[in-house]
Amino acid sequence: MSQLPMVLADLPVSRELTRLARGQVEWVAWDSLGQGTRPEIVGIFTYGHPRVDASLLERVPNVRVISNFGVGVDHIDLEAARSRGIPVGNTPDLLNGATADMALALLLAAGRRLVEGDYYARSKQFTRYDPSYMIGMEVHGATLGIFGLGRIGQEVAKRARGFGMKILYHNRQPNPEAEAALAARYVSKNALLAEADYVVLCVPLTQETRGMIGKSELAMMRPTSILVNVARGPVVDTEALTQALLHREIYAAALDVTDPEPLPRDHLLLRLPNVILTPHLGSATEQTRRQMAERSLANLLAGLKGEPLLNRVV
Ligand code: NAP
Repeated sequence: MSQLPMVLADLPVSRELTRLARGQVEWVAWDSLGQGTRPEIVGIFTYGHPRVDASLLERVPNVRVISNFGVGVDHIDLEAARSRGIPVGNTPDLLNGATADMALALLLAAGRRLVEGDYYARSKQFTRYDPSYMIGMEVHGATLGIFGLGRIGQEVAKRARGFGMKILYHNRQPNPEAEAALAARYVSKNALLAEADYVVLCVPLTQETRGMIGKSELAMMRPTSILVNVARGPVVDTEALTQALLHREIYAAALDVTDPEPLPRDHLLLRLPNVILTPHLGSATEQTRRQMAERSLANLLAGLKGEPLLNRVV
């Protein structure tokens, strides 16, 4: 029998992770968990977003660490881990740049109708240039409103400054240092929704932020405004957003994340022309994912040895 520590993981993990972990841990597939208790499992590695809750932790009583591949840990019951003294590791900061790049890519694509334009340019309908088609919304000089001026939000603001955008933000607490560094202005939630041409969501998914953009918030946005979500799908009420886009109450949305994820294949949102969707690609670059693999594995191995994690949420 293997002497390596047994780690529950939602397999397959990436080739990079498989290579890095070789000879250090023995992966146990989530699907093979069965019903009973598994005392031989000493670690948990969450690669996608499998749910880790109290009932799961009951069944793996000897787990010494939970390591998450990514920064968002809304799929892990942190209180259940805390009450059992199990450290939870994640990979903050490494992915700020890649996720902020994606937010800007989505913002630009929605404002300038890039995806619609791409489809049209490939289609038979494109027979001549017409200056009156696909008129979009200006990006440079527009007002950007960021919900969650944290690690990723601040990187979004930095990039937006290069486009001469005016920056508003809303957090639970103002962040004077970030304001000074980024020439950002703290405003109320309602003022941000009313004033921003582009509303970008960079908050974590918590009980407070779940559904924070619903029918009444969308109604406060202008018919020319664009919503960008690089946070988590459930921060936005999907049905309210679908109706707002269908009735052109807002101009467009660009979503890296949805609720549910993926959306049912026959969902109306998938057929609307004023929506751009990407399949949760925020941190999906070769360079960032490599660093996330290294960090999440380092957290896992540290926790298995009883050493401090490099990044610890709990
Ligand atoms: P962070 O540094 O903790 O920043 C979060 C920001 O949100 C903080 O400024 C925080 O400020 C604010 N916030 C928290 N709760 C709030 C509330 N109820 N209302 C208003 N603002 C609130 O987190 P991060 O590293 O930037 O990551 C943010 C999230 O992005 C992650 O949790 C993850 O879900 C998501 N993400 C997505 C991708 C992707 O692939 N699309 C990639 C990476 C991360 P206050 O504490 O003052 O409120």
